Amino acid sequence: MCDTCHAGCCRAYNLLITVFDALQISRDLSLPIGEFVAMLPRDAAGAKRFGDLHRPLRFSDPGFEDTFFYIGLKQIESRLIPGTVRCHFLQEWPRAEVIPERGSHPGAKIAGRCGIYGSRPMMCRAYPSFLHKDGALGMVANPADTPMTQANEIYTLCPDKWTLASFGSDTTQVVHQLVLNRYEIDFQNKLIDEWNARPRSLKEFFPFAVACYSGRFRVIPEMVTTPSVGQPATPAAEPAPIPE
Ligand code: SF4
Ligand code: SF4
Repeated sequence: MCDTCHAGCCRAYNLLITVFDALQISRDLSLPIGEFVAMLPRDAAGAKRFGDLHRPLRFSDPGFEDTFFYIGLKQIESRLIPGTVRCHFLQEWPRAEVIPERGSHPGAKIAGRCGIYGSRPMMCRAYPSFLHKDGALGMVANPADTPMTQANEIYTLCPDKWTLASFGSDTTQVVHQLVLNRYEIDFQNKLIDEWNARPRSLKEFFPFAVACYSGRFRVIPEMVTTPSVGQPATPAAEPAPIPE
């Protein structure tokens, strides 16, 4: 189904990633972390809504005392649809031939493809499915459109309902990714618990995290740069969180 879509999910969501995802992208693309990671700030209420799975981070920098942060992928303005945002890595172009069976769905006219497909974050690999909280069952999720769709139709999500059959023969792989993602999130939550017990400044976080992963990743020091805080202004009051 994604082949006939304009990648609405890569536009409408502030995607939360793990340090593992960031290190993998940085290593594979030789890209400094600060180039593509954004720290997403939330107040206490926002953190409560976001934080079921991902533990929020605290920093000691002045002005950050009441703010909780999540690690996300940077969003930038879409060149195809000015005034709207998309994932830093999304490639987009008008379709040479409109897909008639997709009707008025934006994916009928616009193609969207991940520019880092082989290195994309684990959540992107499994979307739109999730792991049941008992950890034993992968489930298909049909994402509902977000309030951003009212601002621009480009934020419309899937052109059809997802069923198990939509995953084709990849169901085992999807469950595999979900389990790995849960493992990495749990690993990261422990790391963040340790960090939050004695929070330091934002610029010290990734060097700390890289040290925690040193048995798994060899990171070139020049790649460990500090991410920016926040995202570009969007038409909606607040970008939609990832679905629960
Ligand atoms: S990394 Fe790729 S799949 Fe994930 S949100 Fe960005 S463009 Fe989409
Ligand atoms: S919005 Fe739905 S159909 Fe479109 S790319 Fe994302 S998951 Fe695939």
